[in-house]
Amino acid sequence: MQPLDLSAVDLVAAVRQGDVSAVQCTEAFLKRIEQVDGRVNAFLKVDREGALARAAAIDARRKAGGPLGPLAGLPVAVKDVLCTADMPTTCASRMLENFLPPYDAEVVRRLRAADAVIVGKTNMDEFAMGGSNENSAFATVHNPWDLTRAPGGSSGGSAACVAADMAPVAIGSDTGGSIRQPAALCGITGLKPTYGTVSRRGLIAFASSLDQIGPMARSAADCALVMETIAGHDAGDSTSLPHAVPRYTELLEQPLTGLRIGRVAAHFAEGLDPEVARGVEEAFAAFKAAGATIHEVELPHAKYGIPTYYLIAPCEASSNLARYDGAHYGHRAEPGKGHRAEPGKGHRAEPGTTFDSPLAEMYCRSRAEGFGPEVKRRIMLGTYALSAGYYDAYYAKALRVRRLIRQDYLDAFQQVDLIGGPTSATAAFALGEKSNDPLAMYLVDMYTVTANLAGIGGISFPCGFTKAGLPIGFQLQGPALAEPLLLRAADRYQRLTDWHLRRPKLPA
Ligand code: GLN
Repeated sequence: MQPLDLSAVDLVAAVRQGDVSAVQCTEAFLKRIEQVDGRVNAFLKVDREGALARAAAIDARRKAGGPLGPLAGLPVAVKDVLCTADMPTTCASRMLENFLPPYDAEVVRRLRAADAVIVGKTNMDEFAMGGSNENSAFATVHNPWDLTRAPGGSSGGSAACVAADMAPVAIGSDTGGSIRQPAALCGITGLKPTYGTVSRRGLIAFASSLDQIGPMARSAADCALVMETIAGHDAGDSTSLPHAVPRYTELLEQPLTGLRIGRVAAHFAEGLDPEVARGVEEAFAAFKAAGATIHEVELPHAKYGIPTYYLIAPCEASSNLARYDGAHYGHRAEPGKGHRAEPGKGHRAEPGTTFDSPLAEMYCRSRAEGFGPEVKRRIMLGTYALSAGYYDAYYAKALRVRRLIRQDYLDAFQQVDLIGGPTSATAAFALGEKSNDPLAMYLVDMYTVTANLAGIGGISFPCGFTKAGLPIGFQLQGPALAEPLLLRAADRYQRLTDWHLRRPKLPA
């Protein structure tokens, strides 16, 4: 039995039946990480000893006839935005380079309680800001399908590690598309649940009204399995929904007959790569063949999604990231490097800079040294948009447009059960292609940010390949709490097609 080839569902069953031990399973994935991650850079930290010790404890418990959790022996990789008490949590930022959290994020706690084996922390764009993973302060992630291309972001390490068989399951976070877009570019399945479905206690905050955690795996069925462990109310997160956790895996069994899927003509307008368009249209046809009906719907305000998101997200980020001041957390600049000035004489963090006070110097230098360029850009954009005189013109207006975007979805979901379309306008782009053009990078999120703005769920899964052999992603979005339906529709599609089973050629 080769653990690398098994789905998460089958792996868990194999460990439970004793066909493979948790240690064998963990060793197989650790070996694969050793063989290929030097080329992919999906991991910032691999916890070899911890993972093997954990797996051995699970095997010992099984041998003694003790109870096994629902994910017993399943290797899981966790995005480095989630706190882990036994591993540094860096958010791929120099600011948190040496940060060891005092506690596990709730998602991590639940995974451990379910007997999953956490193998390491995955690379990402710094503070989850980016769409290519090139904003990591530590290493660029390479797309396993073509190492010269980006894996997407910001959960690019999580997507790449699943695509390259370094873990059967990874956890990501999605503020504007960071689970779905890298899932699309790496040819895997990623679910962004409805806002409030998965606890964010211990998730390092980017934009709190948009952030949500979700599973990334090879299939919808594997995502469903993980959701049963990570979803559900947590009194430690004030935005957590108090609803009962659905039996996501059992609900997969209902057929799709009569399912109404919406298609938005505007999704196929300018900017969509023709090969992606073809793959997406073929997926609609496959859904039709499976018993669904396709209906044209409109989301008239979705075209304002990018400007709305790129105001609200930076505004919230500027506030959330104010905590990194060098005093409480993370990087602190060496004292006494700057020239001090008379009070009121400005503070530019450049050579020869002057500061109002030693404290101002410490804040300023710590932040200048600790944050990378994109994070600084977001903080400045957000601070500007929130400042007196601009607040109403930018932030307050963006909130009103957000309402309209949400209302469009509510109206559309009166007519259809789900909305389908492309996840990303193109397949994986080359590393370096957009990294000097922030606007081009922001536009990669055009199909994904609206779900975050509306607070609803979305899933991306592979629906074909370009001629160059790069995966194409199909996105389904659903009304609030429609995750069982999103997973079921994607799972049905995956029972009828084999795109999700294709693996990149990445020899050991
Ligand atoms: N690419 C988007 C951004 O840079 C989304 C990021 C995310 O979802 N974390 O903001």
